[in-house]
Amino acid sequence: MLRSTKIVATLGPASSDAATLERMFLAGVDVVRLNFSHGKAADHVARAELVREISRKTGRTVGIMADLQGPKIRIGKFRDGKITLGKGDLFTLDAERELGDQDGVGLDYKELPRESRAGDLLLLDDGRIVFEVLEVRGQVVHCKVIHGGVLSNNKGINRKGGGLSAAALTAKDMEDIRTAAAINVDYVAVSFPATGADMSQARQLMHEAGGNALLIAKIERAEAVVPATLADIMAASDGIMVARGDLAVEVGDASVPALQKRMIRMAREMNKLTITATQMMESMISSPIPTRAEVSDVANAVLDGTDAVMLSAETASGQYPVEVIEAMHRVCLEAEQSQVVTLDQEFLNRVFTRVDQSIAMAALFTAFHLKVKAIATLTESGSTPLWMSRMNCGVPIYALTSQAATRYRTTLFRDTYPLMVMYAGNNREEQLVEAEDVLVKNGIVSKGDLIVLTIGEPLGRSGGTNTMKIVRVGEEHHM
Ligand code: PGA
Ligand code: MN
Repeated sequence: MLRSTKIVATLGPASSDAATLERMFLAGVDVVRLNFSHGKAADHVARAELVREISRKTGRTVGIMADLQGPKIRIGKFRDGKITLGKGDLFTLDAERELGDQDGVGLDYKELPRESRAGDLLLLDDGRIVFEVLEVRGQVVHCKVIHGGVLSNNKGINRKGGGLSAAALTAKDMEDIRTAAAINVDYVAVSFPATGADMSQARQLMHEAGGNALLIAKIERAEAVVPATLADIMAASDGIMVARGDLAVEVGDASVPALQKRMIRMAREMNKLTITATQMMESMISSPIPTRAEVSDVANAVLDGTDAVMLSAETASGQYPVEVIEAMHRVCLEAEQSQVVTLDQEFLNRVFTRVDQSIAMAALFTAFHLKVKAIATLTESGSTPLWMSRMNCGVPIYALTSQAATRYRTTLFRDTYPLMVMYAGNNREEQLVEAEDVLVKNGIVSKGDLIVLTIGEPLGRSGGTNTMKIVRVGEEHHM
């Protein structure tokens, strides 16, 4: 059974050996995430090489996403590694301090005192610990503990309501973009972008480094969900991540489910990709089965129309990196089957301005009404399957391409499955015959099945799709 929704798995100590990776690939991973918040560049380079190797060995096309650390604002270290704070305790965040103790701790983000005001709520360690700012004196933020607990080295700080204005791309991110380009990743995720300009800057740096990855904006600041800002960020990106960890801290956890739905809908309308992330199968870090709530969460993201669901610590450091993928696969499949596919008003009311987009929509419409077995799109850049995958038509989309980079970048697209074609000539008829052959050889269609094919003329030009053909497999072509 084909799964429409894609699975992104973060790599880490629990998933870096060849045997585990291979089992993860066979369990259904579509994209792996290299988390540049942890580990050295050399670790990521080695992992990427291993991923490409196992991809070749298993015949599974698995994309690679580099996730930049971004300007995560963090406290410094404690003399004893950690402290325990009680409600009502007084505590200082001090930009000039070295090692922390029971009374206060240093900051790696030196601007925090300048940007904090009395009354601000600061959330530490993803909101597990909450401080109220009493006053700011020089380089020291004086706080009262609202929610206490254990606070350990280098935990993150967010402000309720957002607005801490660290630049989106740090010096480390710029260096990591060069590493990502050098290992030829398929996606780069940018953390904490506040505007479309942050994304454009990342794209420019990547191009300068010789990379051509698709750019994913992680939506995790309160400022970024203001509708006009969100549209600006999306327009400058190829996709977004609903980064629920930091986002929940900044906007309040209760706002996130509705925001997730709004963001996914908007992204699809703007022809952008979406990844739903964080704590999707959290309990499976140490349990072989998910909770009922996690099953519902994954299924609901599928019903919202996300392209991909993401695993973080579950596969990076958890005890069940393979089982969690099997569980996610099973939950996605079942949720997808529960959905009745209809072409809704939204589809009928769409306005197209481009020829390739019009052909993509015509192919979907035809595939839906003729109940064909498959859509096959001969694509150079992947733009035609992207248009197609923004709408549900209930028919799988096979992206046939001779370009390796295109094959890898379609791994994240919902309902889309990359296949390799070899033909490099410019005879349309021969190309269509090869497309049909590839589908038959891969067991996707057999004699008598109807398929919808799209192709561009002249052949091999990116964005040039201008032809649709309906073919009954095994019958002679007469163009
Ligand atoms: P992170 O991003 O895991 O890099 O923090 C995801 C999130 O914030 O949800
Ligand atoms: Mn985050």
